[in-house]
Amino acid sequence: MAATYIEVSATKIEAMMSQAGFSELSVPGCAERVFVRQHHVHSKVQVRVYTSLNRTSNTLRDVGKDRMRVTAFYTDGSEKNYNDVSRFLFGAKGVNRASGEQDGDAAMSAVLDRLLERMREVYALINKAPRCPKCSEPLREACSKKKGPNHKRPYTSCLKHGCGHFQWIDRVKDHA
Ligand SMILES: [Zn+2]
Repeated sequence: MAATYIEVSATKIEAMMSQAGFSELSVPGCAERVFVRQHHVHSKVQVRVYTSLNRTSNTLRDVGKDRMRVTAFYTDGSEKNYNDVSRFLFGAKGVNRASGEQDGDAAMSAVLDRLLERMREVYALINKAPRCPKCSEPLREACSKKKGPNHKRPYTSCLKHGCGHFQWIDRVKDHA
């Protein structure tokens, strides 16, 4: 049996975004509608919501690409040029629209509630992100993708242009 997906109306998403202080962002080359809000403390960090709403048809994307994602981006520079200067900071678990128990409006509200919760989560996590010891901007935590002895080794790095701070996060067991 094919999975069914909860339809979420574009109008409802727009209303929720504006209520939460988010505005629409046009991301070049991005097929879906994206909403954004700058963080009130970290002025260079923004929360972006990738809605899975198609930009042109304004309908939800094909089954399988049904996840709405909430991410934090570090934008170093003017907002107009954000695409050249914005870097992914971290993301939250996606919000699936796979149908559950509820139907119709109740199901749609449940999806939007989960999305809003995720938006708040990401916003709060930005406050808790470790700060760069050199410039005090929030640091990105990731794992090395390079093949070799450091493969999958976790590190923090600063996304601020020209800062260059980088540090391995060494797990205790590595030194045991
Ligand atoms: Zn820095």
